[in-house]
Amino acid sequence: MRRVIINLERAITTIMRFLGILLIFIAAAVCSSFLPIIKTAGLHTIVIDAGHGGHDPGCQYGGKKEKDITLAIALKLGKIIKENLTDVNVIYTRDDDRFVELWERAHTANKNNADFFISIHVNANGKQSANGTETYTMGLHKSEDNLEVAKRENSVVLMEDDYSKRYDGFDPKSPEANIIFSMYQNVHLDQSLRFASKVEKQFKNETKRLSLGVKQAGFLVLWKTTMPSVLIETGFLSNDSERKFLCSETGQNALAQGIFDALKEYKDEVHALKKR
Ligand SMILES: [Zn+2]
Repeated sequence: MRRVIINLERAITTIMRFLGILLIFIAAAVCSSFLPIIKTAGLHTIVIDAGHGGHDPGCQYGGKKEKDITLAIALKLGKIIKENLTDVNVIYTRDDDRFVELWERAHTANKNNADFFISIHVNANGKQSANGTETYTMGLHKSEDNLEVAKRENSVVLMEDDYSKRYDGFDPKSPEANIIFSMYQNVHLDQSLRFASKVEKQFKNETKRLSLGVKQAGFLVLWKTTMPSVLIETGFLSNDSERKFLCSETGQNALAQGIFDALKEYKDEVHALKKR
């Protein structure tokens, strides 16, 4: 009887050891299946998205249009990247005054296997005193103001044919639709947030802007991107002094340089991680 118990104990110990080893193998297999994602996520192709364009002017104040400012900053940013990071491929969703539907902007990034998607916009607010920069990632808004920014940017789909079909029945006029839609989480949220905070840090410290910080809201243009993505509100066109800055060569160059410096820092970090 005692021998039977000892044998049973040995058998149980052997099974437990086997299960332990099996668990280690399973854990290793699961981890290694994630590793290639981290390892291959370098920064080789960047899509720069100049908000609005063509018959969609974006916000308008003092005779100035958002679409012209976003294009100017986008082209300046692309030029700095091409001159300084020769191993990075720059793709624009538009490089002239053209209407591009929101889904097509994300599609350009996806079909080119881009490593980052940067959408450039200009803010507006009924309160003329509102000023400063905000960098958004996809996610649930924490304030009504953030929701309003997303609603305004998303409302441009009303200019598109078939927008209801394109965006799974999304109605930009419905507050509920905007809230449900903002629940969507991008799988690359961590990287998007990391880059977003670098942009805001650059804007604050180097570009000497008032940084309103990193925020989250449901933006249609970021929705279907399959890589880290941010939407940058570079300032308020509705604010007189900020409008002057946004429309000036100096201002546009400084904003483009700020985004570039953030990108360079982010790229160095990503590539250092890859070498580990
Ligand atoms: Zn916009």
